[in-house]
Amino acid sequence: MIFIVLAMAAAIATLFLLAKFGKKTPLPTEQLCSQCGAPARHGHSMHAETEPEDIKPLCNKCLTTTLQREYSIFLGRAVVIEPVDGLPCYAFQDAKDWKEHFPNSAISDDTEKLLSGMKTSCSCCDKPAHYLWVESAGLDAKTFTQVLDDGISVTLLKENPPPVSLCGKCAVEHIAKSIEKKNIRYLEVCPPKGETGFVIPMGY
Ligand SMILES: [Zn+2]
Ligand SMILES: [Zn+2]
Repeated sequence: MIFIVLAMAAAIATLFLLAKFGKKTPLPTEQLCSQCGAPARHGHSMHAETEPEDIKPLCNKCLTTTLQREYSIFLGRAVVIEPVDGLPCYAFQDAKDWKEHFPNSAISDDTEKLLSGMKTSCSCCDKPAHYLWVESAGLDAKTFTQVLDDGISVTLLKENPPPVSLCGKCAVEHIAKSIEKKNIRYLEVCPPKGETGFVIPMGY
């Protein structure tokens, strides 16, 4: 039964992607990097589910440079879950907005709770910390909804090391290293903005 449900979910996700990225606009990952002309590996947009024509194709290197700038100017606080392969989106979600849309989802309150324990300075370089890095063993296309529903503390943090406080530069170094090592491609990567939230690999 569970397999039928998963197969249906996968089919619906595929149909959604086909509808979203129709024949007119090629996937960002099939285009050339909008900054340097190398083959793109990701799409970048300001928020999840942006219209395909407004998603900028970027190579690994230009994505890292873009995120370095965006993560450095963000002065709020965010939990950042390590990238994983197999999901199309790596997006920042505002905790308050998320709670308004999904009042039964535990991740917004859990994000606030985790961030209240964040150290004031980066554990790698001593600059002010704005991010709480959480490793992602156990997270995949089947489990990400459970992380959203139940929160990070009772799911990912049960099987991963304790979270680490990071500055913007070090957070992006962690993200870039993980994307490169796991050979990940994302259709949409969206930067942090506003005050408080979480960055999570997710489906549409
Ligand atoms: Zn590039
Ligand atoms: Zn740092």
